[in-house]
Amino acid sequence: MNKAPEIASMIPNDLDATFRDRIATVDEKGKRKWVFAQKPKGRFYNARTYVSWFFFILFFTLPFIYVKGRPLFLFNIPEAKFIIFGQVFWPQDFFIFGLTMVTFIVFIILFTAAFGRLFCGWVCPQTIFMEMFFRKIEYAIEGDAAAQKILAKSPWTKQKIFKKTTKHLVFYVMSFIIANFFLAYIIGIRELYKIANEPVSMHIGGLLTLGVFSAIFYAVYAFFREQACTVVCPYGRLQGVLLDRNSMIVAYDYKRGEPRGKKAKAEAPGVHGDCIDCHACVRVCPTGIDIRNGTQMECVGCTACIDACDDIMTKLHLDTGLIRYASETGIAEGKSLRYTSRMKFYTITLVALAAILSFLLATRDDVAATIMRTPGMLYQERGTDSVSNLYNIKVSNKTIDDIPLQLKLEGSNGQVQIVGGKVVNVKKEGQGSGSFFVVLPAKSITNRKTEIRIGLYGNGKQIDEIKTNFLGPVAD
Ligand code: SF4
Ligand code: SF4
Repeated sequence: MNKAPEIASMIPNDLDATFRDRIATVDEKGKRKWVFAQKPKGRFYNARTYVSWFFFILFFTLPFIYVKGRPLFLFNIPEAKFIIFGQVFWPQDFFIFGLTMVTFIVFIILFTAAFGRLFCGWVCPQTIFMEMFFRKIEYAIEGDAAAQKILAKSPWTKQKIFKKTTKHLVFYVMSFIIANFFLAYIIGIRELYKIANEPVSMHIGGLLTLGVFSAIFYAVYAFFREQACTVVCPYGRLQGVLLDRNSMIVAYDYKRGEPRGKKAKAEAPGVHGDCIDCHACVRVCPTGIDIRNGTQMECVGCTACIDACDDIMTKLHLDTGLIRYASETGIAEGKSLRYTSRMKFYTITLVALAAILSFLLATRDDVAATIMRTPGMLYQERGTDSVSNLYNIKVSNKTIDDIPLQLKLEGSNGQVQIVGGKVVNVKKEGQGSGSFFVVLPAKSITNRKTEIRIGLYGNGKQIDEIKTNFLGPVAD
């Protein structure tokens, strides 16, 4: 996004030189610049740490939770089978799936317009695993940013070989563990257990997938890192069109901070702003940017620069919040962030959408059936006193039990005759189909088209009732 005109004129030329031309992690020759981010500390980092613990607990425990014999969550893309909160979704649930997608897109647009990259900084698994897991392992083994820089430049001594080998070994083992859990979300923990315990020859595909996932996670967290957010992530790329001047972002208060520079002891007021140009905010940034250049696509909203600057401001006995959550309009008008009516409107819209979707999910039937008259067939006269119509039935069983489905005619004299048996067998978490005749006494047919109701019964209990038409020989 463009820097506000006021600040553009205040920034010295040497600082203003490159951030518009290329991303912060690439030098003038197009080579990757490695980011040695200093370990942040402060209230936002602490809060994000707690959020990350919550996230890790969820991520590593959810695959073990089964409800009525089913995983709580399963995203089996190869088989197009999804289980969300224990509810199975098949391709037949296209309507709910479509609505979920629409809700999700609206959610993304509204949420980003109101709250910027709050998701990236606090909830995105990439940021959480990178900053709260792998980066912390790196700090523990190689030390903070300064020590990492020295280690990177130093020759391959025994100590360097030991540290680098240990780090990459730990990174790979952790990536392998994460890959296992990731796969558990796709095939279920029980299938994963089989892969681990049954002969290799029975699970070549699963083991290969595990190897590929582990390699990808390792490559991302050991080498690719912030590039996933700054170069690859489509959500990151969309920020330019989703954010506007009223969106909440991590922002530098240029009105208060500029002109930047160290203040002389007896300096006249107004010579310098509150920014002492210490670069503490730049040193902690995991994407290597200078937030004082204005909102940039590379900013993942991690709040590390807020903590770093608050620390400096506290030491200088100045108000914190030189870098803070704010909107561009708020900064221009010198106001701190308010929960504006626009944000309230977006929040209400999002809650309403989520409520509609929850209602649809909660009231969704376990068994979904469609009944249609067999195409190309009219009616059949049976003797002199009965007429029949032939129907096809298709049933999706979303429960974990096989259902021998019985069909009964409701509210009419007549009977249902299932072709080839007494029930339509529908396998658990599967689909079934069949054909059946509805036979009505001729004298009960008074119209060419009569509405009839078919009751669907499983284990003696009515599961559903479906209306359809019965064609008869009587002219309208
Ligand atoms: S940490 Fe604060 S004072 Fe230091 S350079 Fe960044 S904005 Fe300026
Ligand atoms: S600019 Fe600040 S909030 Fe944005 S990525 Fe860098 S440290 Fe995080």
